[in-house]
Amino acid sequence: MAKRRPVIAGNWKMFKTVSEAENYAVSFLEEVKDVTELDIILCAPFTALYPLKNELEESVVHLGAQNMSWADQGAYTGEISAQMLLDVACTYVILGHSERRELFGETDQEIAKKVKKALAAGLTPILCVGENLNVREEGKAAERVQGQVTLALSSLSTEELSRMVIAYEPIWAIGTGKTASSKDAQEMCAAIRNTLTDLMGLNAEKVPILYGGSVKAENIAELLNEPDVDGALVGGASLDPLSFAKLVHNAAAVVARVVGI
Ligand code: PEP
Repeated sequence: MAKRRPVIAGNWKMFKTVSEAENYAVSFLEEVKDVTELDIILCAPFTALYPLKNELEESVVHLGAQNMSWADQGAYTGEISAQMLLDVACTYVILGHSERRELFGETDQEIAKKVKKALAAGLTPILCVGENLNVREEGKAAERVQGQVTLALSSLSTEELSRMVIAYEPIWAIGTGKTASSKDAQEMCAAIRNTLTDLMGLNAEKVPILYGGSVKAENIAELLNEPDVDGALVGGASLDPLSFAKLVHNAAAVVARVVGI
């Protein structure tokens, strides 16, 4: 198992109304309220963040958003600022998700600006990187992913880099039911850590690197047993509070077994 405190983050994407989010929070919290072995994050749609702030207050579950603007404020119709996320008690923000890159044309340069802004505001960015199937079949997956990491992070100081979370999400495994093997996940998370080592030296050992792509309660333990996989970013399997709680418990059991609790 990895040396860092594991992180399990749910990404609800564009699902759940306010009342659905509130009901979810009540059931989920009841199930995970005693989990102390890892960090749990729910990344919800913007409209659900304020109600969730109230539900999750003083709980073990942290709140995250799924995107934010690189601008502070002003004439940016439709955008949400870092300050607005802080205002509703968000501590994390997903940046550069493949759906943002592929469907909404986000570039590495924009993502780099967002990462910088999030860190300056005191938010923890969860930077998503990952290759599509063509790139993998051409044997260029590591090159693509390491390039994305470098483009997003190369202007950051070591202090800023040490406040990052990175999620390796192969696009061919997102929402498809195809999980990368734990060996593939390990290989790429280790490659990402090598790139981080180039940027920040030995401090790279402190940065949590998550795997995302069809993670479920059934496969989380195997993934977490890999030395460089520090947790998971979970889409579909985070939408039901009881299934997601089971996934969290299965992850916590791996930690408990390793530290001998
Ligand atoms: C995601 O959206 O980040 C994701 C990994 O989705 P899924 O778990 O559904 O593959």
